Amino acid sequence: MEVKEIKAFGTKAAEAPLDQININRRKPTPHDVEIEILFCGVCHSDLHTARSEWGPSIYPCVPGHEIVGKVVNVGGHVSKFKVGDMVGVGCMVDSCRECQYCKEGQEQFCEPGMTGTYNSPDKNLPNNPTFGGYSESIVVDENYVLRIPDNLDPAAAAPLLCAGITTYSPLHHWKVGPGKKVGIVGIGGLGHMGIKIAKAMGAHVVAFTTSESKFAEAKRLGADEVVLSKDRAQMAAFKGKLHFILDCVSANHDINAYLALLRVDGALALVGAPEHPLPVSAFSVILGRKSFAGSMIGGIAETQDMLDFCAEKNIPADIEMIDIQQINEAYERLLKGDVKYRFVIDMASLKK
Ligand SMILES: [Zn+2]
Ligand SMILES: [Zn+2]
Repeated sequence: MEVKEIKAFGTKAAEAPLDQININRRKPTPHDVEIEILFCGVCHSDLHTARSEWGPSIYPCVPGHEIVGKVVNVGGHVSKFKVGDMVGVGCMVDSCRECQYCKEGQEQFCEPGMTGTYNSPDKNLPNNPTFGGYSESIVVDENYVLRIPDNLDPAAAAPLLCAGITTYSPLHHWKVGPGKKVGIVGIGGLGHMGIKIAKAMGAHVVAFTTSESKFAEAKRLGADEVVLSKDRAQMAAFKGKLHFILDCVSANHDINAYLALLRVDGALALVGAPEHPLPVSAFSVILGRKSFAGSMIGGIAETQDMLDFCAEKNIPADIEMIDIQQINEAYERLLKGDVKYRFVIDMASLKK
């Protein structure tokens, strides 16, 4: 397979900071789209993977799975995209395409496993990992490329490719809409999109935060009500009131306190990933036939639906733009929750 050497930002070891490196990209095959990357969002998974916090990563590691860019080249059999189109790439760049889940458009649950945008074995370049969006360009099969609608700001659309679909998919799956009361727990990269999307779907949105300083922000993002989760009286006022809770917190927290807020047949879905197991009391789910569930990104068609929905409802992510040279500092700020609400890298900075 023919390759091209390009510039990227990545790390060669778990304890090393990210720095400029060169990587190989395949030249487009007949079904491939070559994308010049303009913007890349910074997801918490990038940091976990760069530092081997979710098991050993493959090095060198180039993170980034909230990619927006322009098509600069297409293979001879590409029918969905042309040169000049604004496109996106999210958390996966391939899957088996044959299993039940792939056929149902739920490629994120592909039985042999989806190919992650970074840190997965590259099917096209054996012995290489896939490299993510902290790079000049990426080559992706057209079936795993998304259209970015014209009226979405390309930089603010980048975080939709992971944070957007991670929250849209469960809200859609659990049929959030008019007449439903929905709790969003945690107001960060995921939670801020959860509030916006749940509101745009027509639900009554209740945001939960540990910090009173986030009340005004939560309202600005679209929450109808805000609850200080450490205040027992405020929590008790919502006992048995919510149809669905989207839990975006990745730190340890008391799940039973939230399950108590669900109505009969209500569900709580985790999209944050706390490091340690969360103890759930049997009676928290037995009484009221409640579900304690989880959700992971979304399929390709669903991701396109989410982008079209966000364009129609005019809900971009709230972003802070950085240069790629600030990425190590951005990771430190991410760990402190010091970002409103997603860092996006202006990839033009890689040319500096
Ligand atoms: Zn992500
Ligand atoms: Zn599959």
